[in-house]
Amino acid sequence: MSHHENHRSHRSGWLRAAVMGANDGIVSTASLIIGVAAAEAATGDILLAGVAGLVAGAMSMAAGEYVSVSSQSDIEKADLALEQASLDANYDFELRELAKIYVSRGLTRELAMEVSAQLMAHDALAAHARDEIGITEVAEAKPIVAALSSAATFTLGAALPLLTAWAVPRDEIMMTVAVCSLIFLSVLGAVAARAGGANLLKGATRVTFWGALAMVLTAAVGSLFDVAGAI
Ligand SMILES: [Zn+2]
Repeated sequence: MSHHENHRSHRSGWLRAAVMGANDGIVSTASLIIGVAAAEAATGDILLAGVAGLVAGAMSMAAGEYVSVSSQSDIEKADLALEQASLDANYDFELRELAKIYVSRGLTRELAMEVSAQLMAHDALAAHARDEIGITEVAEAKPIVAALSSAATFTLGAALPLLTAWAVPRDEIMMTVAVCSLIFLSVLGAVAARAGGANLLKGATRVTFWGALAMVLTAAVGSLFDVAGAI
């Protein structure tokens, strides 16, 4: 037995974001294509809807990620500034406050005071950030990078059903896009599960189920609108 377990939780952040982006791209674009195809639209209209969905989705992912990462970073910065002010104003209070946290986690009073004193002598703000506020990495947040990478993963995901729809004859678009997208989704789910050290089948099934549900629903909505017949 190795003493070095390979922990994977720390990898789950960016992996989760990438898988979610690609997953969103596949599900929303495939559903859009299937919905429009179910309404008896022509190939050009189906592809137009798919491309519009790709651009709209990628922009929406980028904007959402940018806002989320920047506001999270603002909140953390404000929290740290508050904490630094409190450390400057009342070091002893902060020392006891940190010790109290260690007591609640199971240390004796004396040991907690000792740990608190040593950690604060090393880096007071980092100790409070980690153990009191719960900020583990005081890294610079990169909202632009986060925005671009989610837009990119969404676009990659969306390109799969779009290229599938473009490559097959009109009559086969619905079935081919549905089947291929479910295959893409299950592969993506399995890859994510494998990278995260989780169960492959569970990961694949989870993603595929929601994708299938979305496509069935948009196909149902699309079939309510008979575009060709309405003219
Ligand atoms: Zn504090």
